[in-house]
Amino acid sequence: MKLGVVTLFPELFAPFFTTSFVGRAVTDGVLAVHLEALREHGLGVHRAVDDTPYGGGSGMVMRPDCVVQAMESAEAALARLPGGPARPHRVLLTPQGRVFDQKVARRLSERSALVLVCGRYEGFDERVRSFVDLEISLGDFVLAGGEVAAMAVVEATARLVPGVLGNQESARVESFSASNRGLLEFPQFTRPLEYRGLSVPEVLRGGNHAQIDAWRAEQALARTRLRRPDLAEALDQTGTVDTSKRGRPR
Ligand code: SAH
Repeated sequence: MKLGVVTLFPELFAPFFTTSFVGRAVTDGVLAVHLEALREHGLGVHRAVDDTPYGGGSGMVMRPDCVVQAMESAEAALARLPGGPARPHRVLLTPQGRVFDQKVARRLSERSALVLVCGRYEGFDERVRSFVDLEISLGDFVLAGGEVAAMAVVEATARLVPGVLGNQESARVESFSASNRGLLEFPQFTRPLEYRGLSVPEVLRGGNHAQIDAWRAEQALARTRLRRPDLAEALDQTGTVDTSKRGRPR
């Protein structure tokens, strides 16, 4: 997968793209990354990418010309990477976007190229939205910039790209996965058997896998009902948790 990130702070991504499984994916060439410094597309001596809002009000708004030019420059750079040109899916990070979830991560992981655009200040001039394919929010809170959100999107998405995680199994049976009916994962235990008076459930200690599977399915459902009634209700109605009902991608 080719990945472009448009940001005022490319340096924030240096450790991220060289560490852990993301770093390995980059080294192995499964993930090809290009960081586009938005500042290089700024105007004047200060290389400004923002300006005051029409109509007045506080804060600065990111100019559409600078942002779109940076996005196109990132795409041109991605096209020059091995694998040839592929029209990247353009993703804007914004608190006004579709709330990110495993379903969106899965869909993005099937793309051959993505460009993630990180905002700062008061966000983007509205016209920027006309040039992107998808707007993603990390949740109902306001960050100071899109960089942390972009990293969350990359981490959740990249681990679903075939060949990125050594053990594909660890990407499959987990919270929100289809093999778990979209539910939260069942409780997990490891050694020691006893810890400060807390012990591992008896059923997991024996080797009866049918019993273990039944216990895990039951626990996943009970836990989801308790913690995420919204997911449990979707399962009751449709037999699966379809998170797309919580908002459509734009
Ligand atoms: N004035 C805007 C918020 C701007 S925050 C509003 O009220 O909607 C500045 C930048 O941080 C945004 O452009 C976006 O790129 C990023 N950001 C903030 N919160 C975010 C969130 N919840 N999800 C994704 N990106 C976010």
